[in-house]
Amino acid sequence: MRAPITDLIHHPYTAPAGFGAPQPGVFKASTVFFPNVAAMRARDWKTKDGYTYGLHGTPTTFLLEERIAALEGGRQCLLVPSGLAALANVNLSLLRSGDEVLLPDNAYGPSRAMAEGELAQWGIGHQRYDPMNVDDLARRIGPRTRLVWLEAPGSVTLEFPPLERLAALCRERGVTSALDNTWGAGLAFNGLEAGADIVVQALTKYPSGGGDVLMGSVVTRDEDLHLRLKLTHMRLGWGVGANDVESVLRSLPSLALRYRAQDAAARVLARWLSDRPEVALVLHPGLEGSPGHANWRATCGPDGLAAGLFSIVLHEHHAPARVDAFCDALRLFRLGYSWGGPISLVAPYEPSAMRSPELGTWPHRGTLVRLSVGLEAVEDLQADLAAALAQLA
Ligand SMILES: *Cc1c(COP(=O)(O)O)cnc(C)c1O
Repeated sequence: MRAPITDLIHHPYTAPAGFGAPQPGVFKASTVFFPNVAAMRARDWKTKDGYTYGLHGTPTTFLLEERIAALEGGRQCLLVPSGLAALANVNLSLLRSGDEVLLPDNAYGPSRAMAEGELAQWGIGHQRYDPMNVDDLARRIGPRTRLVWLEAPGSVTLEFPPLERLAALCRERGVTSALDNTWGAGLAFNGLEAGADIVVQALTKYPSGGGDVLMGSVVTRDEDLHLRLKLTHMRLGWGVGANDVESVLRSLPSLALRYRAQDAAARVLARWLSDRPEVALVLHPGLEGSPGHANWRATCGPDGLAAGLFSIVLHEHHAPARVDAFCDALRLFRLGYSWGGPISLVAPYEPSAMRSPELGTWPHRGTLVRLSVGLEAVEDLQADLAAALAQLA
């Protein structure tokens, strides 16, 4: 007779056949069983027609991979534990000591930190290029250049680059290009159609939409490139939790609705703020007069979409301490990093400190505040901003 614990663990279970429901089932596994040794030996982790080990995929992770690949118009997708891990996976896969990687000067800060830290330490060089100037990128691509990062727009200063022209230049010069597509979320424009070889996203932002999940994706169309990235992915042991994957799968059907609503609300607030006397400048690629607006129109269309994210530069005579007081006074906009969740967020930045001195100084004076618009009623957000602007007086 077996011990009750053994019978409990071996209690029979078969996944229900013929059970259809709006949400897919969630499968959790580190270990995956094989029917016999022959099957174990024959199993090839590179394909999706079977399972090997939790790190190499489950029905749950495969499903999200397929859906993100569909969203981005790609063929293959890898999931990693954060957006930053997606950038790292690409860098570690394609760069080796002696190579050089080029980053836009307005790149996501931690991407630059990775280049200045680990990559430099491993003998991988980097240069920053002016993302608004195709000739500047052309000048910097050299015999050691193996990878060019693209971002549209820059994540704090929000200049929208001539994306197709930058990507075409990389292709012409035989250099792999990788786009950080977190802002566009696969909705505002198609990164692979724009010419990027690799498209990564922080699923942490819009695809999750909850402010409660960290995850990243790496999407490609080229099988060889995908296998190279996948090999690195396997060797580094990136895994994602089934509960987090479930959260993203549950959020994806409302992705486009949320993105549009957050876009619309952000534009109402951005326009309203551009008429306020305290505000020197509004940085939102969808607004006329913002840096890269013409590029945004070219890539996203004249009636195109934009993320619910923008920055304002307050007039220089508002001392940084008063700007901090403005941020502190906001009640609905919470102080925090990230974007794409239900709660509006605010963070002050010092753009001049983020720029490469070699490429010239940030052309505007005054403190920059980035606003990420959540899902609250826009009139309440506007009232919150109006009340906090009184703190600047
Ligand atoms: C947030 C973000 C990332 C990193 O995502 P995490 O999941 O927070 O690591 C990368 N790129 C951009 C543009 C981002 O906004």
